[in-house]
Amino acid sequence: MDILKLINEAEKDIKGEFAKIDDTCLFYSSKVLEAFQKHNVSEACFAETTGYGYNDLGRETIEKIFATIFNAEDALVRNQFVSGSHALSKTLFALLRPNDLLLSITGLPYDTLHEVIGIKENASSLASFGVKYAQIDLVADDFDYEKVEKYLKNNKVKVIEIQRSKGYSTRKSLTIEKLEKVIKLIKSIDRDVIVMVDNCYCEFVEKVNPIEVGADIVVGSLIKNLGGGIAPNGAYVVGNKALIDLVGESLTLPGEGREVGPTLGVNKALLEGLFFAPSVVASALKTSVLTSCVMQRLGYKTNPLYNEERADIVVDIQFGDPDKLIKFVQGIQSGSPVDAHALPIPWDMPGYDDQVIMAAGCFTQGSSIELSCDGPIRKPFIAYMQGGLTYEYGKLGLIKALEFMQNEK
Ligand SMILES: *Cc1c(COP(=O)(O)O)cnc(C)c1O
Repeated sequence: MDILKLINEAEKDIKGEFAKIDDTCLFYSSKVLEAFQKHNVSEACFAETTGYGYNDLGRETIEKIFATIFNAEDALVRNQFVSGSHALSKTLFALLRPNDLLLSITGLPYDTLHEVIGIKENASSLASFGVKYAQIDLVADDFDYEKVEKYLKNNKVKVIEIQRSKGYSTRKSLTIEKLEKVIKLIKSIDRDVIVMVDNCYCEFVEKVNPIEVGADIVVGSLIKNLGGGIAPNGAYVVGNKALIDLVGESLTLPGEGREVGPTLGVNKALLEGLFFAPSVVASALKTSVLTSCVMQRLGYKTNPLYNEERADIVVDIQFGDPDKLIKFVQGIQSGSPVDAHALPIPWDMPGYDDQVIMAAGCFTQGSSIELSCDGPIRKPFIAYMQGGLTYEYGKLGLIKALEFMQNEK
């Protein structure tokens, strides 16, 4: 196999996709730049606060910028959120009270939420506080509109959770179009139910965001898309002001809420990360499209296909063989800028039933806007790949993975 020839040919096939990605990149670059100007970003915003973190100009400006970009009433963007999972947990704990009912309409939620909700036993879960949980699975990669309608007519639901990106499942990630349809249905039955969207990996991929199609509160990670590979940690929550205030009270303490939270010098990185985010997301998308196209040409099933509409930056490749999956992931690691010499092997990761292999040669621990790849060692042996801070590094990583598969046969 001539890998470079394969890549060159694939790049001809994907020109049309790249043009669409460039168009979206310009759209969001303009949105980000306008928001920076509207809210008067200045050098003073880069100053740090310590201790309680009262009157942090940078923090307040960042939150206004996020609200503007999402067309939301308000935003909470904090380095006190460890990552997206922590923000999702804090948001659920902020919105739900004993005897309230939480409903997921995208099947089993992301793995890190199992102990938060109490799907998996944990003495500190929502379930331990008496929060009830129900779940409606997707059908044919879309919402089960009939079941959702019937359930809402027969039960008083407090919060509906919608996870857009597929996680470690084989389903498709959910586009804004589908989201809009289901939120319209939900609100036509019960105006008061809170629609919460897990937006991880989906930011800046489509031109419309969940708030604009009726979501009440949206959560995402800063070690993914909107951190632009520069934010060292953190997460954002955007949405209705009253709900954001509740999340603030839950994150710090009732009474002080959003007024406290020292930024410890992180403001400049958050602003710079957001500034780069449109083009970093575009690079990750291009890497994802190239990977789909190349792996399809090699006869592997990929999700999504190279020319399929994308809702997020993740591409999964079905290897059908554990050795090929392992080689591919090891190759991605060997094409990374950090720890390229390390050879990942499958291990028993806490919280997972199967062994998992991970490539994460990243500057920021766990950052998956950087080129990263992982896969549970179970049939049909799928690798989930995402990221690439630049398209060129993404492409070089893919070339290394292909070389690894070829040489180690
Ligand atoms: C990554 C991810 C999360 C968790 O985000 P972290 O920042 O890794 O904690 C939650 N939900 C989905 C769908 C994700 O992809």
